[in-house]
Amino acid sequence: MIFFKSRIEREKITVGAMIKLYCRLEHGSRGTLCSDCDGMFDYVMKKLDKCPFDEDKPTCLNCSIHCYKSVEREKIRQVMRFSGPKMLIYHPIHAILHLIDNWIKKNEVKSIRN
Ligand code: SF4
Ligand SMILES: [Zn+2]
Repeated sequence: MIFFKSRIEREKITVGAMIKLYCRLEHGSRGTLCSDCDGMFDYVMKKLDKCPFDEDKPTCLNCSIHCYKSVEREKIRQVMRFSGPKMLIYHPIHAILHLIDNWIKKNEVKSIRN
């Protein structure tokens, strides 16, 4: 169950769902990802596996390292912009957990700065 997964595992599930949704609605894929999205999926999963922050992971958008190459960063931004608002309809549990994770992270950063 997604509730009991680690922060990185939850993020992998949510971002994976976003890529799948994007590919289905934008590229008409059914069941399997197109080769472009499949490459992006592998790239993102590898980056998350190697994320040095582990359980303290910030959102990739607010990360001080930004381990993605610029082309991939732009691609994943495009996916997020497209799939993000639709997640509440297609994957509400993932969307809510993702919002909670990001909210907790933002508040941790705020309390460190204050
Ligand atoms: S961008 Fe930052 S938070 Fe995201 S996977 Fe890379 S190192 Fe981790
Ligand atoms: Zn695709």
